[in-house]
Amino acid sequence: MTPLFDVTVIGSGLVGSSLAIALHDSGLNVALVEAAAPGIQAQPREDERNLALARASTTALQTLGVWPRLAEAATPIRRIHVSRAGEFGALRLDAARAGVDSLGSVVPARALAAALQQELDRCTRLQRYVPAQLRDFRVSAGQVDLTLQTPGGETTIATRLLVGADGTASPVRALAGIGADIIDYAQTLFVCSLLPQQPLDGQAYERFSDSGPVALLPLAERRAGFVLSVPASEAAAVAALDDAGFLAHAQQRFGWRAGRFSRPGRRSAHPIRRVVAHSLTAPRCVLVGNAAQTIHPIGAQGFNLGLRDALTLAELLILQQRGGGDAGSASLLQTYAARRREDREGTLAFSHGLVQLACNPARALAPLRSLGLLLLDSLPDAAGGIARRGMGFRSATSAYAFGVRP
Ligand SMILES: Cc1cc2nc3c(=O)[nH]c(=O)nc-3n(C[C@H](O)[C@H](O)[C@H](O)COP(=O)(O)OP(=O)(O)OC[C@H]3O[C@@H](n4cnc5c(N)ncnc54)[C@H](O)[C@@H]3O)c2cc1C
Repeated sequence: MTPLFDVTVIGSGLVGSSLAIALHDSGLNVALVEAAAPGIQAQPREDERNLALARASTTALQTLGVWPRLAEAATPIRRIHVSRAGEFGALRLDAARAGVDSLGSVVPARALAAALQQELDRCTRLQRYVPAQLRDFRVSAGQVDLTLQTPGGETTIATRLLVGADGTASPVRALAGIGADIIDYAQTLFVCSLLPQQPLDGQAYERFSDSGPVALLPLAERRAGFVLSVPASEAAAVAALDDAGFLAHAQQRFGWRAGRFSRPGRRSAHPIRRVVAHSLTAPRCVLVGNAAQTIHPIGAQGFNLGLRDALTLAELLILQQRGGGDAGSASLLQTYAARRREDREGTLAFSHGLVQLACNPARALAPLRSLGLLLLDSLPDAAGGIARRGMGFRSATSAYAFGVRP
């Protein structure tokens, strides 16, 4: 007999895993489907990126029971210095000025994925299909029928609600007929860790230039996470550099604010596109995380935003379950879309605006940018507002971000 679930999550990346953990113990019958076999290095979550997590995200991960497994690998961000090559002025965000002990934390994506995986392994009431790839689905009255490809052949399951947490290319989004706006930024980000001569001591740097942003994030053991953006046309040449050549390039782009760079770790490369779904929902389907919106990493918002998607949905599903309602009802989907609108639109506009402002080579903008950064720096309220926004606290934040399980 075909099993019928209340909720089926497609994709066990950082966002889908967080959602599944939040729903465990809720009384809902939940399935989690992941195409990649455990430990496959090619998965996006297994690369060299380091994630800047907003304070609201670290609190939410604490509420989910994931943070204790991650705390040792996390480094607090106490100050952020944002500047532009060749211009005066810098924006400085300071935890102390915002009245908090840190603005967020940096964690290696690999460590976050491992911590989520460990917590998932404890969630014995979740039904996991791994490896299993969603091939097709059909929505009928009251449920969605899914076809999954597993190593043993095709299998079918049914669900009241289908959640697409299946990343930028989202097969759920495509199969549900939801279109997406795509912008190719024609940039590739290279990420790796390295050793700066001067310890960062909680200081993060973001430096903009006509070639795109570079960033340095504090990591454990005095190391730093380095992010280098290059125009797509130069990506092959940068990828071909040996360690010494890459370090020289990195130093030339970042400058000497943190002293000499040495001991680079492995590099991974990420072509950057913005993919924004036209709708967050379709009948009995909902999108979260990169499937809903993939944004430029420049503002370090992608996972933070995706986590807020997942936890808002979890909260609504848990409340609906307590009232004995249908997990895939049209009213739940409408409420989800309405609850996510302001945060989603605001974050999309913020991140795209930052790319335009920071990377636009139009010389005429240069004095304005400098002035803008100086002004922001001299106005504690403006910088404080950005800091609070960066910390992930929004009007529609879910209970998890305040340390409460719904
Ligand atoms: C260089 C870089 C730096 C970044 N830095 C930050 C940062 O500092 N802070 C921040 O908040 N965000 C950051 N981000 C963004 C963040 O990494 C992403 O937003 C986040 O990882 C997205 O997670 P996800 O679970 O939505 O998608 P994914 O990680 O893409 O997961 C999707 C999952 O779905 C599975 N899947 C796909 N198709 C199927 C199918 N048909 N059937 C079953 N399973 C399927 C995939 O195997 C995968 O495991 C950064 C991104 C980049 C590229």
